[in-house]
Amino acid sequence: MKTESKILVTGAAGFLGSHLCDRLLDAGCRVTAVDNLITGSLENIKHLGNRPDFEFIEHDICRPLELPGPLDWIFDLASPASPVDYLKLPIETLKVGSYGVHNLLELARAKGAGFLITSTSEVYGDPLVHPQEEGYWGNVNPIGPRSVYDESKRFAEAMTMAYRRHFEVDTRIVRIFNTYGPRMRLDDGRVVPTLIWQALHGRPLTVFGDGSQTRSFCYVSDLIDGILRMPESGGYDPVNLGNPAEMSILEFAKQIKRLTGTEAPIEFRPLPQDDPRQRKPDISRARKLLGWEPRVGFEEGIGRTIDWFKGRPADKG
Ligand code: UDP
Repeated sequence: MKTESKILVTGAAGFLGSHLCDRLLDAGCRVTAVDNLITGSLENIKHLGNRPDFEFIEHDICRPLELPGPLDWIFDLASPASPVDYLKLPIETLKVGSYGVHNLLELARAKGAGFLITSTSEVYGDPLVHPQEEGYWGNVNPIGPRSVYDESKRFAEAMTMAYRRHFEVDTRIVRIFNTYGPRMRLDDGRVVPTLIWQALHGRPLTVFGDGSQTRSFCYVSDLIDGILRMPESGGYDPVNLGNPAEMSILEFAKQIKRLTGTEAPIEFRPLPQDDPRQRKPDISRARKLLGWEPRVGFEEGIGRTIDWFKGRPADKG
């Protein structure tokens, strides 16, 4: 990003949003951060509070947002994003991907700003093509419990493309695969914080199903690197961002046991409905378009994440 660019980040108090704010400020941008704090936390951005180049507005983007002055880019990261969160907040999740995205696209149009939407590997649903490349249309249950997130993001992508085609707004779409690192919420229900917390507190590690389902985990700094390369890329087709290093969830649990040294057992629980069987990004497009690929290996990234969780109060019941 160019120094002095004026950037709006929504979902700025969340896990990814707060890391993005840090990096934009490091690059010399001026950041307006918006969040309604339903899943984000001020704790994630409190270190930025007094900077003159940073401003926080508590606001729900489902209502129009008025901002004075010029704006160069909008990075939209506002949405509940963990299965536990979006199942608890189904209507909010559908609204933020529809009304919220519409409001931001209107703002981008009015200001002549670029608009980047953070979409998700969930648009591929329970994928029948492996690994997933951007040309795959997905295998999504449109009425299942996860549909509130999957269809919200699919709608957000459609709305973004419509504004591109109809109003020539300069848009980008990234599809984010499982990402982890410091500032994940302890109680967001995802496998990374949940199992690390369990291991650090000697509780059984809960593996859903038989653990043979796969995910591919990307460290947060790599993901943010990829996002930051998008505005200059000029491409408006969706781009997968994630780490193609795939592992089964059982293998993940074993790695957490090994790296924390816990003696706690692995406990098997029922597999949630429509839980994708496999997930791995094909990142050829990101490699070509952005010259990007992940650099932080699993052991290094998960080690940093475990260290960060060790420093947290044990505040989960
Ligand atoms: N999972 C698990 N134990 C947990 C939480 C999640 O085995 O305590 C599994 C979940 O069923 C899924 C995978 O781990 O197969 C990743 O789940 P997560 O919620 O992190 O994200 P998802 O990739 O499903 O959006």
